[in-house]
Amino acid sequence: MDAGFETYGFPVGKRYNSFVGYFKRRYGERLQKIVLDAGFTCPNRDGRVGRGGCTYCDNAAFHPSYSTAGKSLHQQLDEGIEFHKVRYRTTEHYLAYFQSFSNTYAPLARLKTLYEEALQHPQVVGIVIGTRPDCVDKEKLDYLADLASGRVLKDWFRDFAGGRREPVVIVEYGVESCYDSTLERINRGHDFDTARRAIEETAARGLDVGAHFILGLPGETREMMLDACALINSLPIRSAKFHQLQIVKGTRMEQEYASVPDEFLRFSLEEYIDFFTDMLERLRPDLFIERFVGEVPPRFVNETPWGLIRNVELLRLLDLHLESRDTWQGRLV
Ligand code: SF4
Repeated sequence: MDAGFETYGFPVGKRYNSFVGYFKRRYGERLQKIVLDAGFTCPNRDGRVGRGGCTYCDNAAFHPSYSTAGKSLHQQLDEGIEFHKVRYRTTEHYLAYFQSFSNTYAPLARLKTLYEEALQHPQVVGIVIGTRPDCVDKEKLDYLADLASGRVLKDWFRDFAGGRREPVVIVEYGVESCYDSTLERINRGHDFDTARRAIEETAARGLDVGAHFILGLPGETREMMLDACALINSLPIRSAKFHQLQIVKGTRMEQEYASVPDEFLRFSLEEYIDFFTDMLERLRPDLFIERFVGEVPPRFVNETPWGLIRNVELLRLLDLHLESRDTWQGRLV
């Protein structure tokens, strides 16, 4: 192993800044996210920004069965905790993950009610808010910063990480692509600059920021995606999630794929692992990689070219490939 590589502080046995064990390293214990549907909508569907949404989107494909908007947040949290207990018996604390649609797309008063309600659950120690970059403003970000610094919920206390009086607050932005031509083609309804501004304004308030990207969007070549790593590196984000494009049934992207398949880069599993290794080499080593593949349930897609392979196996294949190429995250930065 390269001497510099060991100084990066990657988890033991990893050649990249894996998110596995991230919460344990940061807060001293494992935290599990519980996905919530708080009944938000999306400005790219209701007409404020656009109609029909992003061409690849079917929100139902991205959230688990226990989270449905008809149930109270408390009930969704209870059911989500039960669901995860089977796999992670020792987990004691959870993060309420506002994931469905755009979770800052409402007046501030409503956001306060929902976030603070989730934080009242005795096992919840923080919130993760997934949203679009065009759905935040100064007021909302100031409130989140106050929430994260303990200025909002003065009596709030959780017996974790040495006894915390401040909830964990993480904001996750859907950036999807660094190219405006792609963002336009997939009907995102915002450009890259909007994403950059939102991320910078959020990070400037001391909040943890994550970003989501899709690899393999129509019109994008390998070189474009690899070049985008420099832009990703320049964003003040702590973590990133990457997904290979999965074409969900019934979406506009399904029709586009049927009519111009050559404009889509489709990866075999081996090609994707090799390509993502190229990405890792170009990503700064302090960026936590929360995910590198997507997991749309098979019933939502026409094809599962990689078979039904489990996430843990994918992580293992990435580790093996990094080792066989004797490379690591940040090697080319
Ligand atoms: S912003 Fe999110 S919820 Fe809205 S259409 Fe796009 S992917 Fe779907």
